[in-house]
Amino acid sequence: MEYSWEHKRRFNSYSEHFKQIFGERVQKLSVNAGFTCPNRDGKIATGGCIFCNNDAFNPSYCKTSKSISQQISEGIEFHKVRYRRASKYLAYFQAYSNTYDTIENLKLKYSEALNFPEVCGLIIGTRPDCVSDEVLDYLAFLSKKYYIMVEYGVESCYNKTLEFVNRGHTFEQAVDAIERTHKLNIKIGTHLIFGLPYESREMMLNEAKIMSDLPIDNIKFHQLQIFKNTELENIYNHKPEVFNLFSLDDYIDFIIQFTERLNPRIVIERFNSEVPPRFLASSNWGLLRLYEVMNLIEKEMEKRDTWQGRLFEI
Ligand code: SF4
Repeated sequence: MEYSWEHKRRFNSYSEHFKQIFGERVQKLSVNAGFTCPNRDGKIATGGCIFCNNDAFNPSYCKTSKSISQQISEGIEFHKVRYRRASKYLAYFQAYSNTYDTIENLKLKYSEALNFPEVCGLIIGTRPDCVSDEVLDYLAFLSKKYYIMVEYGVESCYNKTLEFVNRGHTFEQAVDAIERTHKLNIKIGTHLIFGLPYESREMMLNEAKIMSDLPIDNIKFHQLQIFKNTELENIYNHKPEVFNLFSLDDYIDFIIQFTERLNPRIVIERFNSEVPPRFLASSNWGLLRLYEVMNLIEKEMEKRDTWQGRLFEI
């Protein structure tokens, strides 16, 4: 595919995308609304995904001891000081499965966030097997007035991997949720993890084609990191030979190859993940921040004169 699209950058970036939609910077505010997860509370399983440590991703100011309103007020105050230009916010229901409740409770929790005039929409993180038609219908209703995105943890396109990580759902269930969401014109975000045991580089690169064929809007990538006090750490300690964790250089090379194969229509929200070092049992690439890794990736794309979708085939 030719490098003809109008993006100033070599990939379809989240920040540019938001500027196009809203005409200004929009800041996400993480909210912990006190949901749980069916893969932890016994409905599907009790152990959860073997890599999961929600505390690692959840900002420390998001505590369930505070109401949603309090978390949002504090988040707005914090970001007003940090990013003076941000005047619009998206409430990011991030911790655990944020569609896993009765429709009445979901309505109350989502409305509490949308009651803030500064909040122009919601991003709702959840599992693909956790979205009823009733919930989607409500989100479709909200999306007529607000920016609404459902963010699905797909994590892998391979059922063997999903089974290994005790994910509790299949890739087919992810496709089904994505298609039902798309039919209602609700925006769709997705996550993938790269570097899970038993997945070869070829398998991971093939996921670019699989994801490109789905009607998704956004995607986030996570390099596999081992979090302390997880089953994954236990396996890592006893069977290190099944892990092939990415070094920074290797990841930059891999993610560029992946991006070249990815549909240029899909917005890339992040190339890698970042968690406080105290949660990590594996390398953190020398404490590099997200934007530093992104800068290295963009520099390398320039050097290779390549771009998102260069090798994408319709
Ligand atoms: S579905 Fe999400 S919250 Fe639940 S165990 Fe897996 S990673 Fe953790």
